[in-house]
Amino acid sequence: MACAKRKEGALIVGAPEKLSLSQATPLAQAASIIGTMSYGEFDLIAQFFSPATSKAVVGVGDDCAVLRPQPGMDWAVSTDTLIEGRHFLSTVPPRRLGHKALAVNLSDLAACGATPRVFTLALSLPRMDLGWVQALSEGMLELARAWDIDLVGGDTTAGPLSLTLTVMGEVPPGQALLRSGAAPEDLIWVSGQLGMARLALETFRGQVHVGGDDFERARRYMELPQPRVGLGLALRGVASSAIDLSDGLLGDLAHVLKASDVGAQLRMADLPQDPLVAALPPALRAHCVLGGGDDYELLFTAAPHQTPQVLRASERSGVPVTAVGRITRARGLVVLDDQDRPVDVSAYAGFDHFAA
Ligand SMILES: [Mg+2]
Repeated sequence: MACAKRKEGALIVGAPEKLSLSQATPLAQAASIIGTMSYGEFDLIAQFFSPATSKAVVGVGDDCAVLRPQPGMDWAVSTDTLIEGRHFLSTVPPRRLGHKALAVNLSDLAACGATPRVFTLALSLPRMDLGWVQALSEGMLELARAWDIDLVGGDTTAGPLSLTLTVMGEVPPGQALLRSGAAPEDLIWVSGQLGMARLALETFRGQVHVGGDDFERARRYMELPQPRVGLGLALRGVASSAIDLSDGLLGDLAHVLKASDVGAQLRMADLPQDPLVAALPPALRAHCVLGGGDDYELLFTAAPHQTPQVLRASERSGVPVTAVGRITRARGLVVLDDQDRPVDVSAYAGFDHFAA
């Protein structure tokens, strides 16, 4: 990360000047404390974003984090940005936002079958609100401890609320799960359940009414996704391809089909759904389950003879999996409804930030 201009003093609303995070030299710290006596960027980093690390030679607090990969391992690296209003609503509690920002990144490591190691955080904040930042930090670092991944550096800036994380994980040479390995006759599997996050979003948008406990349950899917890291690890050497479901089942499956140069057939009735989603009117149900987004489940393929190993991986990781269809030699994606009639899938191409 390039060395940004140093700035003493507090983070100021409406001053989107670049501030550095990891360059907390003694001079800068002293300037922050003695020069202005105000709570500044480096204080914020020291207080909330400087956990101890056993994964890096040098963690937060110098110009660079210094990493020492285990000899002979491949590294899997992924970056995801979350922007207020685009990836999350302003109604999300900060503790949940901290969890989700790391969870969606861990989900990508899970999809590659990588063991989480370290991550960096670039945080843009519109104002200094210590209670809010503390809750964000707690949600993020609690999940980090759960999956044994260390925060080792990053950057803070004053500006519109956004979080960009880069996660790094390790995988034995050649064992990373990729999108490109699906073969004809492979079974298609999905972890967990689909559509609840989308149902919560449509409820927030006023498109559907879900009340009380049902809404709180759906909202947890949207705001507290559980990355399927353990399942991804257990599927190494078992799955022929994998992807995490961030943009909707059909859109993400289309990435696998394109990368693997194959087609697929699914049945609506086989897709794992909460009873709340299964009871929705057909069009809304299809919208949530097929087009959904924000599920952060794994979609993977495996040869039929691997089914016992798939079920063992599910058991070992404690994550339920469901066979939802089959890879076909013929290209294209066919989804059959409850009466075995093809569903018009053209509306569920997956989320594209730059689509009209
Ligand atoms: Mg992904």
